[in-house]
Amino acid sequence: MVLGSCGAWPEPGRACSGFVLEHGGARVVLDLGYGTLPRLLALLGSSAADGIDAVIVTHAPPDHMVDLHGLLRARWFGRRSAPPIPLHAPGPVLARLISLEDDGADVVRRAFDWHPLPARPQQIGPFRLESMPLPHYLPNSGVRLSAPGLTVAYTGDTGPDPRLAELGRGADLYIVDATDRWQRPGAPAAPPGPSLNLTAREAGQAAAAAGARRLLLTHFWPDNDRQAARAAAEAAFGGEVLIAEEDLEVQLGLMGSAGLAG
Ligand SMILES: [Zn+2]
Repeated sequence: MVLGSCGAWPEPGRACSGFVLEHGGARVVLDLGYGTLPRLLALLGSSAADGIDAVIVTHAPPDHMVDLHGLLRARWFGRRSAPPIPLHAPGPVLARLISLEDDGADVVRRAFDWHPLPARPQQIGPFRLESMPLPHYLPNSGVRLSAPGLTVAYTGDTGPDPRLAELGRGADLYIVDATDRWQRPGAPAAPPGPSLNLTAREAGQAAAAAGARRLLLTHFWPDNDRQAARAAAEAAFGGEVLIAEEDLEVQLGLMGSAGLAG
């Protein structure tokens, strides 16, 4: 399920980056930006956030991690004696999380079992997790989750990079940054220099280079025209282009056995 689809800050009624991937009875959360936690708790049907097998956070800006602090409190106040939840994230995510809570280091350590990203391939329940650094303002880790017959890849925030083809190679669903910050009518021209986010067209190019089956555009700059983003991506990618929307469910794999779904 898509928990949130906006980059930077959320539009009215929306949330920032967040996704839940379900497969084989496992549930993995990808990013927890502004406004995602209430949607996650509604999906779980639990104010204490019961039912999460792992959390992955791609990088430290608050539009990808600030509601991780809310999840920390849900576990600390709601399930203090429960085993820690595996948390896979770059070091700056952990440091920011600790800074948000009194006695943060101890509270975080008891609520989460931290594993740094990027890292060597490892197993998370039914998924093999691969990760790689991608260019952004802060260290960002693209992630790729594979189970037999199913692959989902997610860029987090990234500028154009040849590694995007490797991250999403043959993925059933490739979730790609389509910030397109300068798309809005009247927006100033993009400044010179390397971009550290993608346009929708660049997202389509990345999906094409990867040979992905489906592309899910996300991290839209607030008030962007999302249908224009879809058209721009479709001009570069021949496969199906989906637009992230809050509460969108995407079925993946055979017989609906897996999905970015609730
Ligand atoms: Zn972002």
